[in-house]
Amino acid sequence: MLAKVRQALLYWGYFAAKLSAVGGLMWLLWQGLNAALPEPEYFLRHRVARFAQDLKWTVAILIFWLAGLGLVWLAVHDQRRRCKVCLRRLRMPVERGNWSRPVILSPPEMESICPYGHGALAEPQIHLSTRQDAVWTEHDDDIWQELARTQDRER
Ligand SMILES: [Zn+2]
Repeated sequence: MLAKVRQALLYWGYFAAKLSAVGGLMWLLWQGLNAALPEPEYFLRHRVARFAQDLKWTVAILIFWLAGLGLVWLAVHDQRRRCKVCLRRLRMPVERGNWSRPVILSPPEMESICPYGHGALAEPQIHLSTRQDAVWTEHDDDIWQELARTQDRER
């Protein structure tokens, strides 16, 4: 039980650290924008706002927003493809299922495994009208014992 809590804290702590790094990078970028771009000039004694009234600032804020969104997307994308136990990137993607059979019986999916055998992530490859989440299957601690069980079943 304590090991599960530790794993969850490690996994989500790593994600929080990545988001913090993205936040820090975006803060630095914002400071750079403030230093590089001058404030919009007054127009007929009217103070022009940065966003939506000054073209340079509006384009800069648009690019800043897109960069931030892209970095958050990268952090989420990277996190989804990591082992839930050791945080290493999942490797060796293998296609499973069959495109020619009915979708319910053998849906095509991409399965990636942890290089240290902690588990496998099966991501559905077909897009249906309903949401299908990736399924994480954790393996036993002793992969040799699991392999021996598989061989016993085949006999
Ligand atoms: Zn692992």
